[in-house]
Amino acid sequence: MTFKEIGLIPPILNALDALGYTTPTPIQAQSIPILLKGKDLLGCAQTGTGKTAAFAIPILQQMYEKGGEKGKRKIKTLVVTPTRELAIQIEESFTEYGRHTGLYNTVIFGGVKQGKQVTALKRGVDILIATPGRLLDLINQGFISLRDIEYFVLDEADQMLDMGFIHDIKKIIKLLPHQRQSLFFSATMATRIVDLSKQILGNPEQVTIAPEKTTAEKVEQSMYYVSKPDKIKLLLHLMKTENIETALVFSRTKHGADKVVKLLKRNEINAAAIHGNKSQPQRQRALKAFKEGDIKVLVATDIAARGIDIDELSHVINYDLPNIAESYVHRIGRTGRASASGQAFSFCAADERAYLKDIHKLIKQEVPLITDQPYHDTSPPEKPAKQGGGGRNKRPHGGGGGKKPNPNKRKFYGRKKGPKKS
Ligand code: AMP
Repeated sequence: MTFKEIGLIPPILNALDALGYTTPTPIQAQSIPILLKGKDLLGCAQTGTGKTAAFAIPILQQMYEKGGEKGKRKIKTLVVTPTRELAIQIEESFTEYGRHTGLYNTVIFGGVKQGKQVTALKRGVDILIATPGRLLDLINQGFISLRDIEYFVLDEADQMLDMGFIHDIKKIIKLLPHQRQSLFFSATMATRIVDLSKQILGNPEQVTIAPEKTTAEKVEQSMYYVSKPDKIKLLLHLMKTENIETALVFSRTKHGADKVVKLLKRNEINAAAIHGNKSQPQRQRALKAFKEGDIKVLVATDIAARGIDIDELSHVINYDLPNIAESYVHRIGRTGRASASGQAFSFCAADERAYLKDIHKLIKQEVPLITDQPYHDTSPPEKPAKQGGGGRNKRPHGGGGGKKPNPNKRKFYGRKKGPKKS
């Protein structure tokens, strides 16, 4: 299913294309057609599922198709969300998805002076994203009227109730015109949430999206303690005893990758290496042979593996543990896609235990250790061996250790004055 197939119009398709969105997420695929028909929606979904686009896109499309009226813009869409961070994110999404629609949006929230928000409102906006307190405040001061609302979204209803906004919400609902399309989203559907939804929605369609499992939860993982010299023996053992259809084996070095391929071939297992020393035609040939099933094992370094696009991969094998924990998640995420079952085996030598610690911390779980194997290594952890190109947890391209920028903060302070043209 593509965005075009669910009936989106070119101005929105172009905006999504520029953002690199190719396929709708499940909540988008289910909700957009319902909303484009003008129906009310009760959505049970969390942030991170693509929920914002699921409601913003059909609202933008309907508003665009209706066309503008003469005179000052009137607020036709109201999105109420519990926190300032969410409000800012939602407004940015409307701006991005509606870039070619000519619609204007702005965001209001408490905790800051109201001057700039009022100026934006006075200029006229089509879409308003608001937190409840500031919204009521500016309504009471006469800067906002909800008389012309045609689309109303109540986002994160459960969080809204937890934060004690129920009375504010009820006041807002009373001010809305009866004739409108309403959307109600909540991550949970306790009775009090359902009760509230009934006060807002008229005969809604319901869409429920279970939270996405993280990669680490989706892939079945196993850890093997094994000495460096025994790694190849363990690999051959697993190739014989496990039901491995296709495996992507990760080696830390190019030289190591070549060595593994040589030894696999010597044992009559068809394998090829993909790494920086291989020419482009060599890589493409290896990849083609792998996809067609002529090669069972592809041995790659992290960097070379980035360009590999394979959907049906039954196994990922970490012949060497990565010294950057995030790489572990990226590596194991190469399996378990499409219909492949998804298993990840990792080899950990005594001097790689420190990396394992980092991995466990990142994925918030312990990868089960398989001791019932012929090469189980009981030696105690050792200090990591010296490696070229950065030690433990150093980012390959520098800039690692520092504090991560808070995108909300940056976006907030970087915002332009007044309403944004969507
Ligand atoms: P949300 O659940 O709305 O907070 O969205 C989660 C993230 O997914 C946001 O960063 C969106 O930009 C992104 N996103 C939403 N829909 C899509 C899509 N169809 N394809 C790719 N990314 C998406």
